Amino acid sequence: MSTRAGIVVTGTEVLTGRIQDRNGPWIADRLLELGVELAHVTICGDRPRDLTAALRFLSDTGIDLIITSGGLGPTADDLTVQTVAEFCGRELVLDTDLEATIATILRSLMRRYPDADFEAVMAANRKQALVPAGAAVLAPVGTAPGVVVPATAAGAPTVVVLPGPPRELQAMWPAALATASVQQAIAARTHYRQQTVRMFGLPESNLADCLREAERSIAGFERLEITTCLRRGELEIVTRYEPDAPGAADAYTALVELLSTRHPREVFSTDGSLIDEQVAALLAGRTVATAESCTAGLLAARLTEVPGSSAYVTGGVVSYSNAAKTELLGVDAGLIEEHGAVSEPVAQAMATGALRRFDADTAIAITGIAGPTGGSPDKPVGTVCFTAALADGRCLTRTVRLPGDRADVRERSTTVALHLLRRVLGEKATGDAAAR
Ligand code: ATP
Ligand code: MG
Repeated sequence: MSTRAGIVVTGTEVLTGRIQDRNGPWIADRLLELGVELAHVTICGDRPRDLTAALRFLSDTGIDLIITSGGLGPTADDLTVQTVAEFCGRELVLDTDLEATIATILRSLMRRYPDADFEAVMAANRKQALVPAGAAVLAPVGTAPGVVVPATAAGAPTVVVLPGPPRELQAMWPAALATASVQQAIAARTHYRQQTVRMFGLPESNLADCLREAERSIAGFERLEITTCLRRGELEIVTRYEPDAPGAADAYTALVELLSTRHPREVFSTDGSLIDEQVAALLAGRTVATAESCTAGLLAARLTEVPGSSAYVTGGVVSYSNAAKTELLGVDAGLIEEHGAVSEPVAQAMATGALRRFDADTAIAITGIAGPTGGSPDKPVGTVCFTAALADGRCLTRTVRLPGDRADVRERSTTVALHLLRRVLGEKATGDAAAR
């Protein structure tokens, strides 16, 4: 028997899509790591009736653990604790210790607002010190405490009530998990190991072939729960298995072996590492500059998402117009005239220009047609040219045809660029740089 959980995300701003839900997916990951089966994520507005209905639905499906997010603030529309208490048939009681804790937090916050009326603010926040009888209190990360309401009867769910701001919810999670009621609710969970292989440049159908072969040839394959998905232009193969099940770990080793043997160029990560992290490691001790046309800085942004990237990213040029390519990167106007702005010679000239402009030892250039207009029969929308160049003369140039809409083409271009960088940086100095 395994443990099943449900998540209720509250907040009208999330329901309407004004804010994208970051709590449901985050908790889902944590539950997966724990080996708790997630049955549902529901989103409802800030209306007690709708929250009650969601709790009722999850409870009726026999769920062991419900986690809610949002609605713990001091304002009138923050009603989660009251609603959960009512649903669980528990009175709200004033926790005087908690009230004192909240007062201390507020006093220090209000030092910044000397004119504010402390008593009025405290009165509004007093309701945050009301907790369901018998619930465990989770210390506030902001000003709102969370609560864990133990199962009221056999078969009823334990309810964990967490704040809405993702930073607060995430910080509070370990304390919620450590409570006796949550530990009890998840006691029957299955312990899984989860591992990830990442591939680039392989059609999904080829991967499906390879997995069919694995199914035929690997003993214990049925013990592996494999999910594959296409993400940012890469294939992500996530495998979950019970490490103690006989043959499961060996089957996984055999699977990775088979994928790596069949597709040695396409498998780039067997330890879960991302291309971004790999490129960051390869750039250690180097300097990199970008020259971007259709991605207009997305690659520079992606490179600098990695903490510590200031050690090797020198800068980038967004050369959207032909004039900018010429003036900022020194691309010969005649070259653009002759081959078009989206062409391999121009990508190469952009990369060379970036090397020079930033005095860098590594450069990457992107020029393409993101669409929806601007395509032609020989250069349709999605055609993108890339050059990765090193100061020692090594250089890789590629033209690819990327599927999808404007946003897809621009995003995928950054992935292709990172893989090209990985390839050129991974090559030996004497290698045949032009060979595929
Ligand atoms: P507060 O005391 O800040 O009001 P709260 O627990 O009442 O905390 P909410 O009012 O539901 O939380 O949400 C506060 C803010 O937190 C939202 O306006 C939003 O910016 C962010 N937030 C809430 N829920 C989510 C979510 N599921 N995903 C991403 N952000 C969220
Ligand atoms: Mg609120």
